This record gives sequence, structure tokens and C-alpha cells, in this order.
Amino acid sequence: MATLEPCLNCGACCASYRVSFYWAEADANGIADSMVEALTPVYSCLRGTNHSSPHCQALVGEVGKAVKCSMYEQRPSPCREVLAGDDKCQKARARHGLPALPTKTVTDSDKLAA
Ligand code: SF4
Ligand code: SF4
Repeated sequence: MATLEPCLNCGACCASYRVSFYWAEADANGIADSMVEALTPVYSCLRGTNHSSPHCQALVGEVGKAVKCSMYEQRPSPCREVLAGDDKCQKARARHGLPALPTKTVTDSDKLAA
């Protein structure tokens, strides 16, 4: 997720997917151990996302209303890859009953820090 509108009023992607990454990314990004869960010997995920109803532990606020990422600077690569208006975004928004966004590509740098 990001912290520019519409992301600041959304957070759906942080509460829709398992956010997994190569284990070494956690240390490389400075992610706190308490935010990470081991999946396999080489893959980890963000705590709270390995569920049928995922909700990243770092997500603060209410999905669809007002949210922020409490570890925005440390977030792993999957978080940086979802762009407002892309396919994953739209699916996540639909899952949470939020309207689709105009399809457009934004760069991660377009998103604001929490
Ligand atoms: S689902 Fe889309 S709009 Fe919502 S936080 Fe994620 S990238 Fe932003
Ligand atoms: S770390 Fe931040 S951007 Fe990534 S899923 Fe969690 S709340 Fe969303």
C-alpha cells in the first residue's frame, strides 16, 4: 500500500494477500522480527498475512476509511510492487467492497510515506 490518496483511504491490498518474500529481505530492510513469520526455510511473510482473511500487522487504521503503514520505509518488495489502479489493487479493493480505481500506473515513488 501507499500513503497518497487513494491509498490513504484504502489499505485493501494490505488486508487481502499473503505478503511473502525471501527471508533475507527482512534483515536487509530492517523489518522487526515481531513483524515476520517464517513460511519455509527460505521464505517469510509479514505477520498477519498468512491467513484466509489476511491483515498485515503493520496496517494501522480501518480499511476503506483511513489507514497508514507503520513500517512504510521498511516494507518488503511485494508491498512496493502493488500500484494504485493495477490488477492486484483492483482485486483487493473489490474484495473489500471498494469501487474500482481508474486504471493507471503510478510509480512507487508517487506514494507517500506514513
Ligand atoms: S489496494 Fe490499491 S488503492 Fe488500496 S492501498 Fe493498495 S494500492 Fe492503494
Ligand atoms: S508492510 Fe505496510 S504496505 Fe506492506 S502489507 Fe503491511 S501495511 Fe501494507
